Amino acid sequence: MKRKLETQITLNTLIDSFSNEIKTLSKVNAYECYQCGKCTAGCSVGDFLEETPNQMMRLIQLNLRDEALNSKTPFLCATCNTCTARCPMDIDIAKVMETIRILSEKEKKKNVKEVSKFSKIFLDSIKNHGRLFELGLTARFNIENKTPFKDSELAPSLIFKGKLSLLPQKIKNRKRIKKIFDNSINEKKGVE
Ligand code: SF4
Ligand code: SF4
Repeated sequence: MKRKLETQITLNTLIDSFSNEIKTLSKVNAYECYQCGKCTAGCSVGDFLEETPNQMMRLIQLNLRDEALNSKTPFLCATCNTCTARCPMDIDIAKVMETIRILSEKEKKKNVKEVSKFSKIFLDSIKNHGRLFELGLTARFNIENKTPFKDSELAPSLIFKGKLSLLPQKIKNRKRIKKIFDNSINEKKGVE
């Protein structure tokens, strides 16, 4: 009888491991989600996602850690917080996305490397200039991917039409942007 009970406890611990991990890191209890789909209906990048926000919640409920950490969805998430604002259960889905992103980066998951790289270069550009420098982002991303001339044939017409700037346009108070980044790094360290 005792032996049976021990087996049951071990199994439950294993089954709950990923949802518990998410709960510890993001304070979100995935089992409060009842799959209404409101988060997905309002997601600003929903058409481009591999897994929709409610499907990501389902992966956590099912403790499918590898599937969640290998999904590109958290890296495509624009952190607009619409899902969080719309959730009838007050679930902070944007925070869950951020948490999975951090775990994927930490474990260097193979199929998220490219998206992660793009995300980092994008944020570096915002941090340095206060706004996105598209030409710099494309050039750095292509060089780091060893495809330096990818899409380069599009550049002349975009520059000619004024859609692409040759030099970065910096905003005035860049210190404030840097402060936002510093605060977010400190918060991230808290999650880690
Ligand atoms: S809106 Fe909230 S409850 Fe509904 S599916 Fe999304 S996370 Fe779950
Ligand atoms: S925070 Fe991310 S997942 Fe949520 S609605 Fe915005 S883009 Fe979609």
